[in-house]
Amino acid sequence: MSVAPLSTIPFTSHVIEHRPVSSTAHELTIERNGMQFEPGMLLTIHGSDRTHDREYSICSAPHHEHLQILYRYISSGRLTTYLRGLHAGDEIMVSGAHGSFVVRDRNAPIVFIGTGTGIAPCLSYMRSFPDLDLTVIHGVRDDEDLFYADELERYPYFPCVTQSSNPELRRRVTDLLRSRQFAADSHYYLCGAYEMIYDVMELLIERGVDRTAIFQEPYYYQDGA
Ligand SMILES: Cc1cc2nc3c(=O)[nH]c(=O)nc-3n(C[C@H](O)[C@H](O)[C@H](O)COP(=O)(O)OP(=O)(O)OC[C@H]3O[C@@H](n4cnc5c(N)ncnc54)[C@H](O)[C@@H]3O)c2cc1C
Repeated sequence: MSVAPLSTIPFTSHVIEHRPVSSTAHELTIERNGMQFEPGMLLTIHGSDRTHDREYSICSAPHHEHLQILYRYISSGRLTTYLRGLHAGDEIMVSGAHGSFVVRDRNAPIVFIGTGTGIAPCLSYMRSFPDLDLTVIHGVRDDEDLFYADELERYPYFPCVTQSSNPELRRRVTDLLRSRQFAADSHYYLCGAYEMIYDVMELLIERGVDRTAIFQEPYYYQDGA
């Protein structure tokens, strides 16, 4: 008889806090119930049936009492429409932790490139290892999506906001990478939309970055992109 690994067994967790960080992104804090994880790992939130189960990067640190995720509400989304209705005290089913998007070498300089909620693993890295040699590039559509800028600004921080009201920030992540040289011997961590990850990988490899120094966590395809 095979025994399911602990990380795949769902458990009940209560919502501690649920708050918006922009008009569509929300921070959800839930009970940890002993879940062990490394910064950069994921948890699964279970929906009404297995086709609604979805993965989320944990943005809190292992030394924090609770687990925290950052999610984008999708109006046609199966799980996030359920998540949006949650209140403190509600029960949800969770499993984890899993995933391998963890910091490979804490002594190497890191350039983290995340789009939208793909900044979540970077938050966990920073909150866990404050001494990392970290540069943060955050790609979003609107200024309001530069969530956690106060925390991220402690490191070299490059917001790229495709529809910014500030012309200096109005750029794509790939525009920034074309206009500015980041050290080729850094480790590059890419997280978020598949399209960004493909484009950035191509650019980095053109720039001489070794493939083995690029780590990726793709979240979703952009509709109609
Ligand atoms: C390894 C992994 C980690 C992930 N971590 C996170 C995370 O930390 N935070 C997070 O918000 N999402 C994360 N996701 C995406 C998440 O698992 C869900 O796909 C997302 O929340 C939508 O679920 P849904 O059931 O509401 O939408 P669905 O009913 O599955 O519909 C999804 C539609 O929305 C698009 N979509 C999915 N995610 C996004 C997004 N963030 N922004 C814009 N469009 C999107 C998809 O391309 C699809 O067209 C992660 C995905 C993976 C594979």
